[in-house]
Amino acid sequence: MSGLRSRMRRFLQKPGSATLSRYEELLPDIAAQEEELRGLDDAALTAAAAAAADDAGICALGREAARRALGERPFDVQLLGTLALLSGQVAEMATGEGKTLSGALAAAGYVRRGHRVQVMSVNDYLARRDAEWMGPVYDLLGVSVGWVTQVSTPDERRRAYAADVCYGSASEIGFDVLRDRLATSVDDLVTTEPDVILIDEADSVLVDEALVPLVLAGSAGEADSGREMAQIAGRLLPRLHYEVDDERRNVFLTDAGARVAEQALGGINLYAAENLAVLTQLNVALHAQALLQRDVDYLVRDDRIQLISASRGRVARRQRWPDGLHAAVEAKEGVRASESGQILDSITIQALVGRYPVACGMTGTAVAVGEQLREFYGLEIAVIPPNVPCVREDEPDRLYLTAADKEDAVVSQVTSTHATGRPVLIGTLDVAESERLAERMSQAGLSCVVLNAKNDAQEAAIVAEAGARGAITVSTQMAGRGTDIRLGGSHGDGTLGGATHGDGTQGDSPRADRDDVAGLGGLLVIGMGRHASSRLDDQLRGRSGRQGDPGGSVFFLAMEDELITTCAPDAEPVGAGGPDGEVTDPKAHWTVGHAQRVAEGVHLQIHRDTWRYNTLLEDQRRTVLQHRGELLRTDLALRTLAESLPERAATLRETVPGEVLVEAARQISLAQLDHAWAEYLAQAAEVREGINLRALGHGPNPFGGSLSPVAEYNREMTRLFGQFRDDVTALTGHAFQTITITADGADLAAGGLARPSATWTYVVQDNPFGTDFARAVKSISRMLGRR
Ligand code: ADP
Ligand code: MG
Repeated sequence: MSGLRSRMRRFLQKPGSATLSRYEELLPDIAAQEEELRGLDDAALTAAAAAAADDAGICALGREAARRALGERPFDVQLLGTLALLSGQVAEMATGEGKTLSGALAAAGYVRRGHRVQVMSVNDYLARRDAEWMGPVYDLLGVSVGWVTQVSTPDERRRAYAADVCYGSASEIGFDVLRDRLATSVDDLVTTEPDVILIDEADSVLVDEALVPLVLAGSAGEADSGREMAQIAGRLLPRLHYEVDDERRNVFLTDAGARVAEQALGGINLYAAENLAVLTQLNVALHAQALLQRDVDYLVRDDRIQLISASRGRVARRQRWPDGLHAAVEAKEGVRASESGQILDSITIQALVGRYPVACGMTGTAVAVGEQLREFYGLEIAVIPPNVPCVREDEPDRLYLTAADKEDAVVSQVTSTHATGRPVLIGTLDVAESERLAERMSQAGLSCVVLNAKNDAQEAAIVAEAGARGAITVSTQMAGRGTDIRLGGSHGDGTLGGATHGDGTQGDSPRADRDDVAGLGGLLVIGMGRHASSRLDDQLRGRSGRQGDPGGSVFFLAMEDELITTCAPDAEPVGAGGPDGEVTDPKAHWTVGHAQRVAEGVHLQIHRDTWRYNTLLEDQRRTVLQHRGELLRTDLALRTLAESLPERAATLRETVPGEVLVEAARQISLAQLDHAWAEYLAQAAEVREGINLRALGHGPNPFGGSLSPVAEYNREMTRLFGQFRDDVTALTGHAFQTITITADGADLAAGGLARPSATWTYVVQDNPFGTDFARAVKSISRMLGRR
């Protein structure tokens, strides 16, 4: 479709409505095949699947296979979803519409077209659940399926990726890709060439988590210069030597502070271009000192720093702050420096997805991020209607002056609703809030279950019961995602254990229990505050009213909510509330919407910025990896070296067998390349940080000129990349000259080219100060204007 036509279409029609009719036209054809397919035995069905060529045939076979294997005959709308996925779109289908099955049929369809598919799941638990759940359907269709989780062994991974369809979380797949990037032998690779990626909950992966870097680090045994900086930062005094901004997100050295630090560092000029690295380190140490609080942001346990994740409220295993910051906190607390090691490589989830020639996905909330999906990934959305119209009643927001008024109102709402037996699900913004609320409710004599993201499988079992009579469930946004909430409870079916919940009386049958709860109005969802995007609000609402069930939702807000205080800080005072503190002023409600739009705008701007910074590095990485692949798979290394150092090559050929020499040259070249790349990444981070600092108004521009920050960054990185390539060539040649190479191969260790003795992976948590965020809030608020 031409650019103009698609733009016109966007203008004239609802997104997705044009493409939908194309899929709808296939439905009669699919229906026409149904009877004949039912007549086939299983073996004949599998044989027919192997021969299926067109989309209608694939859907018809998939429908029959699902009916036999699961006792669920896919609805027409589910097949529309499958067809959208097969066209490389993001299918928007509400929660509970059966996306797992739609996705599996699409995956099988891609396999029939000759592709290999990876299904990106939200977490390990869902990867395994969905692979096992859909297994019998794939079986009937003659498609092999596998899954990877954190505990999979290398052999299991290799087998799983080699299957036609492989399920895995974004981080597990990303870690495998990273580890493969450092493989020194083709036999060590576990992943396959990227082909088709089908992403579940596509908006969370592609928008919310897109910028999260996955990191592979290796032990480097470096000297620990962070200690000195921590000591210097520890001596600085608030207000006199540094200032913390109101939102406690940023810390600035004062002139007096800079002088003290400069003296302590031996009389250097902190703001001179050549001291950029020192200034960066000091800034990080000061952040650790002034802004990160023990027992709030982190725990010190077993001589280690452990992060507390605010949204999940648990110690975040396998998570670290950006590298320098983590080391700075360790230095501040005087604990042993963990092996932060050296970052060998890292990849954002966005770049990970970008590796696949074909991407498609499914989610309940895509339209709200349609622009971004198009801009960053070139993805179009198909809006699939629900199988049964949604009848959930979404009540208007209830707004209060203070957080205390709001909590009172929620408790009294829950009390009166619970008295009727109607189940209630309360969505909180973070775990601290969950716990406070649970405490309040138990004081009020209400017993509830609190989900604290303990572990995904357990959580799924509990959330599945949130629709039981009398259930009260308190949960954060992320908890129990992907789990179906059935009215009347799950009756322990599906893959979940039988958690008990609430004071639900066991009825005669699932049907009777469902009807009983439906008669009470279905599940009532209560939101404890608007999220930073209306899309997340919708995800919470969507937990109720699945498949045409009755249900309701209502959000309780306070003028003190963080969203409002950060994103609409200059909102006019709303005057007195009613007797219970409820605010009815329509202007106040307007402020809430405004704050949410500011937050959405900020996230988009950060995404755009980061995207612009990342693009060049990603291009460079691609170049490097392509080269690395050739080194790994061909004799390019030896050919290159023999060309530049013919005498050395000739000498070696006299004593070293050909194959051994090829391998030695390969290992030397790979080692130098990988070393240099890790160093290059560190350099890139430093350049980026330096440009950031300057954007905050500190010091002169060390690179001169008056370019925009991104342009400046790109210019510098282009220069450094040229240097990187020259360095790699020179160092590789030098190593080839000097390293001992015998019939046993190259002695890399003696040549200082030992591989890291250990590698490990982790996810970088957002920098908790969100400096980008704070800065962007200001400009966006201005941009949107005040009423
Ligand atoms: P989603 O991911 O869209 O929220 P799921 O894939 O988790 O939904 O499916 C929700 C529930 O609907 C599951 O319990 C599943 O068994 C059921 N389901 C899916 N498709 C059908 C169907 N065609 N007929 C009956 N039940 C279905
Ligand atoms: Mg799902």
